[in-house]
Amino acid sequence: MAEVSLTGVRKVFGTLEVIKGIDLTVQDRELVVFVGPSGCGKSTLLRMIAGLEDVDYGTIRISGKDVTENAPANRGVAMVFQNYALYPHMSAYDNMAYGLRRSGLAAPEVDKRVRETAALLQITDLLPRRPKAMSGGQRQRVAIGRAIVRNPDVFLFDEPLSNLDAGLRVEMRSQIARLHRELQATMIFVTHDQVEAMTLANRIVILNHGRIEQTGTPLDLYVNPANRFVAGFLGSPRMNFFEARVVGQSDHGLDVRVVGPVNGPVRFTVPLTTQVLPTQGLTAGTIVTLGLRPEHIHLGAAPVQVGASIRLYEQLGRDTVLYADADGLKCTHSEGGQGSFTVQLNQPLPVELGQRVQIGFDPALAYVFGVDGTCLSPKRAVLASKTD
Ligand code: ADP
Ligand code: MG
Repeated sequence: MAEVSLTGVRKVFGTLEVIKGIDLTVQDRELVVFVGPSGCGKSTLLRMIAGLEDVDYGTIRISGKDVTENAPANRGVAMVFQNYALYPHMSAYDNMAYGLRRSGLAAPEVDKRVRETAALLQITDLLPRRPKAMSGGQRQRVAIGRAIVRNPDVFLFDEPLSNLDAGLRVEMRSQIARLHRELQATMIFVTHDQVEAMTLANRIVILNHGRIEQTGTPLDLYVNPANRFVAGFLGSPRMNFFEARVVGQSDHGLDVRVVGPVNGPVRFTVPLTTQVLPTQGLTAGTIVTLGLRPEHIHLGAAPVQVGASIRLYEQLGRDTVLYADADGLKCTHSEGGQGSFTVQLNQPLPVELGQRVQIGFDPALAYVFGVDGTCLSPKRAVLASKTD
């Protein structure tokens, strides 16, 4: 059993509070990914779990034992860093064996563990080499091997794949998923890359400014974001956000009109969680933000339709991504910039710059965000969840 639990964990550097009270339990054998923008406190939090950074307030428990004051070596954790941190003057073998020898393990046992781990990682032929004679991917494998030989209860990874090229990143990602299955260990993996988080995690923890925005399975967070930050962070291309003015409420939800000088006003109703209505002050005239995923916008007939011109397009083979300027309707944040809507079509489609199209969507698929950014849309069914 290696459960990691954090209670009221905070960290202050000088006058800057970078971790602002984290409560979280990582279950035994779970692979949890901490994801968030650069500088949000991911590494600091991981280093606190590892014991490399003091905890100013709060408690860290591993397997039920309070380790808040324990030295890193006495926590049963092993950490893998982005920059590999291998000893340059040692072979891969010695890099992996070093910690075991220092802990007093007998030579035959050290040799057995190093060779078994090398076989698991398919790096047996690299064992005699020094780091400078290895590629980035090979070094990273050795660094992971060095963690595995220690047989820790908990693996901590801090952006271990960020220095690798795109192809290798995908390969190493599946290696880590495989290791997680085979080693049956608890793992915490830190990344700024939402695709890495979506593909690897049993559960994602989204951090922002030292706080947890939301935790959940990748699909649940994608389908049911708690707020605008999470909605905008997960998904590539990103969600389109645009403003709408509340006209009133109907039995079906919130009646809105999109904001702007619209040629022929666009007015529609978006579903709403009824429980939150009284507290949200969504009276006529209030401005709310609506969110639409690029894959929920289509060309041609749809319940809500707007004329648009194509500003930019990307032919990705199977998919086509359009950046379209809608008549009188601007995105407040958009991937293509300048207020255009991102439209993802799952087919190759010949288009031209400046071409006139009709873009449309089903308002039932639009997310509503209140003034404070909370998502006010009803929960949607998640088709499947990854338990690995
Ligand atoms: P992330 O890993 O999410 O990019 P970090 O945990 O590295 O973020 O950093 C979080 C914040 O803490 C940043 O604002 C960073 O500048 C600050 N920080 C990190 N380490 C220190 C330190 N040793 N002294 C002062 N500020 C630090
Ligand atoms: Mg970091």
